Amino acid sequence: MYVETPSEPSFMGALNIVRASGAEFAVIGSGTNLIVSDNGFRGVVLRFTASGLSIDGRIVRAEAGAELEALVDHSIGHGLRGLETMTGIPGSVGAAIYGNAGAYGHSINESVRHVRFFDGAVIRVFSNAECEFHYRESVFKRHKHWIIFSAELGLAPAPADELRKTADGILKVRLEKYPVTMKCAGSIFKNLIMAELPEAVQQQVPERVIREGKVPSAYFLEEVGAKGIQNGGIRVADYHANLIYNTGGGTARELCAIIADLKSRVQNRFGLTLEEEVQYVGFG
Ligand SMILES: Cc1cc2nc3c(=O)[nH]c(=O)nc-3n(C[C@H](O)[C@H](O)[C@H](O)COP(=O)(O)OP(=O)(O)OC[C@H]3O[C@@H](n4cnc5c(N)ncnc54)[C@H](O)[C@@H]3O)c2cc1C
Repeated sequence: MYVETPSEPSFMGALNIVRASGAEFAVIGSGTNLIVSDNGFRGVVLRFTASGLSIDGRIVRAEAGAELEALVDHSIGHGLRGLETMTGIPGSVGAAIYGNAGAYGHSINESVRHVRFFDGAVIRVFSNAECEFHYRESVFKRHKHWIIFSAELGLAPAPADELRKTADGILKVRLEKYPVTMKCAGSIFKNLIMAELPEAVQQQVPERVIREGKVPSAYFLEEVGAKGIQNGGIRVADYHANLIYNTGGGTARELCAIIADLKSRVQNRFGLTLEEEVQYVGFG
């Protein structure tokens, strides 16, 4: 069953009914970062679709169902700096906060002031610190039944044409990496924070691959021969070891097998456990 609404009271009412019924449920945004089981999902999928954006000086308010790109473009259009490097990241504002989305050295947490969410009983507002943001992490990932309704972001004034130029440059590079026709969920695995790696692994990582204190998981994947691996219709890109896509009739089962294979190769060679950035739906 699929339920969507732009109304907060309706969403809370629907969620309460679903929870009381004992049915399985999943809350999704635009569905760009999900691996869904080949058996589908036997339960209720809920989506909060309110997508309002408003600007008051340097403060931008965004409802969770707005597309992140709309928020990025809106901010750029109003000469506000802070989100322009996130151009081209698909998906909704709600999910971007949930997973602390980011690209090109910046993540959404740098701009977030407050997040308004439903905790299953009442609506609450968290400050940036209370959101406990880390690399691709937030408190919302650890409380999957907390549903983000809106956020307030604080940005800085800057010339709109400069911001547009930065965003267009990034978009050009992104479109080469992720052509619009490619069936993929973005990066499958999270990158790794250099300082958190075991010393023995740190010593093996060449300086040139470290970016903003992170080691791309693609480095470890490439070292274990991931590029070009194919299982049925699912393939690891020849040009990027952390980009796995569906060549046509690929299945979730084939994708999960590749993910398991790559994780075990990296585990055996480096003693590291790669962690998925993608979220699973319908796997029990
Ligand atoms: C081609 C491509 C490139 C990408 N590049 C990047 C990148 O550069 N950087 C990056 O960070 N990500 C990237 N991604 C991943 C993806 O864009 C982000 O994870 C995005 O935030 C997902 O948004 P979504 O609305 O599609 O979320 P979904 O896939 O629908 O959901 C993702 C998770 O968010 C949760 N969620 C959704 N809405 C809410 C809500 N309102 N409240 C609470 N939880 C919610 C869901 O429960 C789910 O667990 C890329 C994906 C693709 C396909």
